[in-house]
Amino acid sequence: MQCYYCGKEMVPSTTRRGVTRVKEAQTKDHKIPKCRGGSLAQNNTVLACAGCNEEKGQLTADEYILVLGYRKVLRLNRYYRTIVPNWVL
Ligand SMILES: [Zn+2]
Repeated sequence: MQCYYCGKEMVPSTTRRGVTRVKEAQTKDHKIPKCRGGSLAQNNTVLACAGCNEEKGQLTADEYILVLGYRKVLRLNRYYRTIVPNWVL
């Protein structure tokens, strides 16, 4: 199973005590968080790694995907700057 957001391969989420702190642990995420009116219905949930789920917090899936996309652009920008010194995005 891969994380809906980052695509990372996940590991089963439960240890014997039902608690795990592994970032790659598989969790169920509400695309629209409950606190923002999201439902508990199946079509509002996706499987996400614990790291993404925790970081996403109260953002909706769309908002969090924008954040991830923005980070990718920043990384690319930094990379281009190492090749083209006056690169401006
Ligand atoms: Zn993830």
